[in-house]
Amino acid sequence: METRTCAYCGDDMPNSRNKNSRYCCHECYYENKKNRAVETNKQLNQERILLFNDKIVEAIYEQYLEKKYILYISSIELIKNNFNWSIYSGEVMIEGIKAKKLLRYAYTLFTNQTVRIWKL
Ligand SMILES: [Zn+2]
Repeated sequence: METRTCAYCGDDMPNSRNKNSRYCCHECYYENKKNRAVETNKQLNQERILLFNDKIVEAIYEQYLEKKYILYISSIELIKNNFNWSIYSGEVMIEGIKAKKLLRYAYTLFTNQTVRIWKL
C-alpha cells in the first residue's frame, strides 16, 4: 500500500483521514485555501494594474503617436498618470528593440528617460 502525503505540509497522511482527502488535517486544508485566495487576489490585482497601464499608454498613443507627430515621449507622461513600471505581461522584440508588453500596446523605456510605444 502506498503512503500518501499531505498536499500542503508534505507529512504522511494519518490513516484516519478519508482516502479522498488531500490534506492531513483541517489546518492544512484551510491554510491551503487561504493561500490560494491570496494568490487569486494578487493575480486579479496585477490584471487590474495591467489594464490600467494599457489605458494610460493607449491615451498617450492616441494623443501623440498615432498622428505621427513624434515617435518618443518623455517618461514623465507616464509617471504623471501613475503608470506602474513593474507590471507588464511579457517582453517582445519589435523592430530590433526589446519592449515590455501590456495588453494592446508595448513600450520601451530608454536610459535617457524617453519612451517608445507600439500598438500590437
Ligand atoms: Zn498537512
